[in-house]
Amino acid sequence: MLEAVDIQYLKGVGPKRAELFRGIGVNDLLDLLYRPPRRYVDRSLIKPIKGIRSGETVTVYGEVADKGLVRTRHRLTIVNLLVSDGTGYLLCKWFNQPYLNDRFTVGQKLVVSGQVRFDRGLSLLNPEYELIDDEDAELIHTGRIVPLHPVTAGLSTRQYRVILRHALETYLPALAEPLPEAVAARHRLMPLAEAFRQVHFPETLELAAQARHRLAFEELFYLQTMIALQRRGFEAAASAHPLADTAWRPAFERHLDFTLTSAQRRVMAEISADLNRAKPMHRLLQGDVGSGKTVVALAAMLQAVGSGCQAALMAPTEILAEQHHASLAPWFQRLGIRAALLTSALGAKQRNAVRDGLASGAVQVAIGTHALIQDQVLFHRLGLAVVDEQHRFGVEQRAALRAKTGAVWPHQLVMTATPIPRTLAMTLYGDLDVSVIDELPAGRVPIVTRWTTEANRDKVYGFIAGQLAAGRQAYVVYPLIEESEKVDLKAAIKMHQHLARDVFPSMSVGLIHGRLPNDEREAMMRDFKAGKIHLLVATTVIEVGIDVPNATVMVVEQAERYGLSQLHQLRGRVGRSMYKSYCILLAGKKMSDEAKARLDIMQKSTDGFKIAEKDLEIRGPGEFWSTRQHGLPLLRIADLITDAQLVPLARKEAWDLVEKDPNLTTAEGSRVKSSLYKFYPQAGKYITTG
Ligand code: ADP
Ligand code: MG
Repeated sequence: MLEAVDIQYLKGVGPKRAELFRGIGVNDLLDLLYRPPRRYVDRSLIKPIKGIRSGETVTVYGEVADKGLVRTRHRLTIVNLLVSDGTGYLLCKWFNQPYLNDRFTVGQKLVVSGQVRFDRGLSLLNPEYELIDDEDAELIHTGRIVPLHPVTAGLSTRQYRVILRHALETYLPALAEPLPEAVAARHRLMPLAEAFRQVHFPETLELAAQARHRLAFEELFYLQTMIALQRRGFEAAASAHPLADTAWRPAFERHLDFTLTSAQRRVMAEISADLNRAKPMHRLLQGDVGSGKTVVALAAMLQAVGSGCQAALMAPTEILAEQHHASLAPWFQRLGIRAALLTSALGAKQRNAVRDGLASGAVQVAIGTHALIQDQVLFHRLGLAVVDEQHRFGVEQRAALRAKTGAVWPHQLVMTATPIPRTLAMTLYGDLDVSVIDELPAGRVPIVTRWTTEANRDKVYGFIAGQLAAGRQAYVVYPLIEESEKVDLKAAIKMHQHLARDVFPSMSVGLIHGRLPNDEREAMMRDFKAGKIHLLVATTVIEVGIDVPNATVMVVEQAERYGLSQLHQLRGRVGRSMYKSYCILLAGKKMSDEAKARLDIMQKSTDGFKIAEKDLEIRGPGEFWSTRQHGLPLLRIADLITDAQLVPLARKEAWDLVEKDPNLTTAEGSRVKSSLYKFYPQAGKYITTG
């Protein structure tokens, strides 16, 4: 087995360089081995200058024959380098990197690679280069496929390669294969020792790719093993009240004034089956904005109440809790179920009354905010907890709710409108099962989305005026980006004044932003809902899930500054009635191609899942949401976008292993275990050692 040898004790390192290594996250041998190159340069085919042609990509090994720095009238600097290899001359040019001129000296040996252009002679523009000053190290630095590992000031790629090479030579011979044989065979995975060799110093790029594939699979396998163990830990430790499907359901269906979509029916069946078990359900219900998650939650709550248990529905804000209470109360009344609202906005007396009711069981359904998970709230027999709009509720809050009920846990249903691509869901919420409503109710009027620029601002105002005159309401959203929050907030306040005074003087124009005290913010939202405010200027604090059907226009200012998911969420605030709705994305003058691509996607698609996939592609998983809110694991090798197809495969293998060998005690299991601990030291918590 590989030992976690401290980086300092590897040959060629020592205490001083060890600090540099630690600075780039390499603390021991394993960090070093499991850290792939950022890319490769194929220098295996060095060409004589004499034979090369324009358009070819070449690597040339020669020496500096002449050099010079040129400044043009347009403040451009060009470093010119004439390289000779004895067969001819090749001109290399670097633009706007004047410091390069000092890196080269005439006579210096070097390798340059790039695409050949013809520009008054053969030349390479901004080529890759590497100085060759250490002849005996040549075998790992040139004349082969050369790895480029990310390094840091004071530690060159060259030094890094030498140290890595020594480490491989020293430790690979004793390396055992950690993955079960059958797994490696099924997925045609290269053995680990070979993979380390080929990922760092590949013979061919094809082998490098196979090596990376193996390491990515292995990493995802450990991650999923960890998640599987966690999940088993929950299940082994806990039981839940089995909630039988009851007499409520026919009445429920009869009273619906619409037909359920087939997606709603499917997820209801999935949830219902889970609730029937004596093991706690942990299920994530995903469904785009407006896909009808609330009735699904209602059906589940009825199943709980029908089996003599209580149900709780938690929303991230008071206004959302109130909204749910208002829309569900008629249902509960009709069926004779006692439901109560519990938020911190309630007076102490009322709140105490609700608490007493929950403790005695007199209140069967509680709808509220996180006030529901505060210490003083006790449930008589909580069978089901529904959490709406997951992304505001962290894992900790979920755990707190679970802890309220001791050894018998409530079933948990977590609902989110943020569409999460499947591979991410498997990773982020790997401890949850996932149900997806992938269909909107029929007959929705699609939202018209257009993006435009400042030049059309007056037209946009004209359009809003028309909608307001017709009795509709509108949002104007301003971005608040953390680093420039003060400036942005000022802009939003000024814009509000301008709109209220100059543009829509006869309308009532409100302003809502994150610096407002909670109660003022909620009051403002209430007034908007009640139609007392016609136009609402808001920073992005407008609540997720807020439902004001009469609002038909969403204007997003500086739309180029938002990510796709956020734009989609904002757009979801309109299009909630039979009135035709509009989303107008106003972009500033300066815009990157990427931003333009985002706005185009918004204009073309209203499908939240498609948008989420695109968002992931454009931004990468780390940026998908702020990682503060989502404990997305740091992966060293695997990439949740490009390796997406590996996630379910690794997951299946890992979950099968944990199913068969829950404490990883067999010979195979224990090999996995020791590697797993290196990746996830916390995994030990979930393993019972005999
Ligand atoms: P979300 O998934 O965003 O929480 P809601 O549950 O608030 O969506 O549903 C949005 C609206 O659609 C509600 O007014 C709801 O009554 C209605 N709705 C839900 N399911 C259907 C359906 N199958 N057919 C028509 N309307 C539906
Ligand atoms: Mg909702």
